[in-house]
Amino acid sequence: MASTIHYQACPICASESIGKLYVAKDHTVSGELFEVWRCAKCSGGFTQNVPDSATIGPYYAAESYVSHTDSEKGFINNLYHKVRRYSLLTKKKLVTNLVQKRTGTLLDIGAGTGAFVHTMQTGGWQVTGLEPDATAAKQALQKYNIQLQPAHNIYTLEAAQFEAITMWHVLEHVHDLHGYFKRFSELLQPSGVLVIAVPNYTSTDANIYGHHWAALDTPRHLYHFSPASMELLADAHGFTLIVKKAMWFDAFYVSMLTEQHKGGSLVKALLVGLWSNITALMNVHKCSSVIYAFKKK
Ligand SMILES: [Zn+2]
Repeated sequence: MASTIHYQACPICASESIGKLYVAKDHTVSGELFEVWRCAKCSGGFTQNVPDSATIGPYYAAESYVSHTDSEKGFINNLYHKVRRYSLLTKKKLVTNLVQKRTGTLLDIGAGTGAFVHTMQTGGWQVTGLEPDATAAKQALQKYNIQLQPAHNIYTLEAAQFEAITMWHVLEHVHDLHGYFKRFSELLQPSGVLVIAVPNYTSTDANIYGHHWAALDTPRHLYHFSPASMELLADAHGFTLIVKKAMWFDAFYVSMLTEQHKGGSLVKALLVGLWSNITALMNVHKCSSVIYAFKKK
């Protein structure tokens, strides 16, 4: 029997002021319905009655889960991969600027099929990559000759060795949220930089689509971060914000996925994506996905 986690308190800030916000369908794998709850204190969200770490595996078993495959079939996947090539270089530039060195030591958590690890290694960085999915790790080995380590190695890596830790759309998948933050602090050098990119369920496109918004991605997304809840979480673990950056392509990508699930129109997706980004130009808190960079206090 599947084991699920029923939260009595917010998994981000521990407040008991929590309540149901949406019922959201798993469009990618199971077709099951999951409740998305919101915390009144930190404004973060989470998926209620979510499978625990031992039973969530089957919910990742889909060829269409693009983060875990390198299929370039289909318009959206194809676009996703083109954009990814561009964003890899943008991410590299951001990390390099934050660390203020041309090369350094990096831990990439949730490395997938190794594209970002490869990009940084090619730039001369010394990179350790962690990935829980054995199939993705095998592809990294075949494609880039990169040996990724299993995710649980985060608990045994040597302390204070990294100048940067990156998690690109990964933290929302991590069951041991607070345990990971404790390790970020231990694994980083004193002046190290923590870079976390996550979807923003309080973005303009998320507000327009509500429970249909594809980046709710239940039950794989355990948490639905607002900018305030992300900063509060990091602060509670001894981190202070350096900068927040908008991820411009996500509004289009997530809107297209959402319209695809709804049987809606590509034109509407492009308009919603465009409108979301216009509002995000004024206020990064309206952006579909946000990159947060933190340093230790
Ligand atoms: Zn909370």
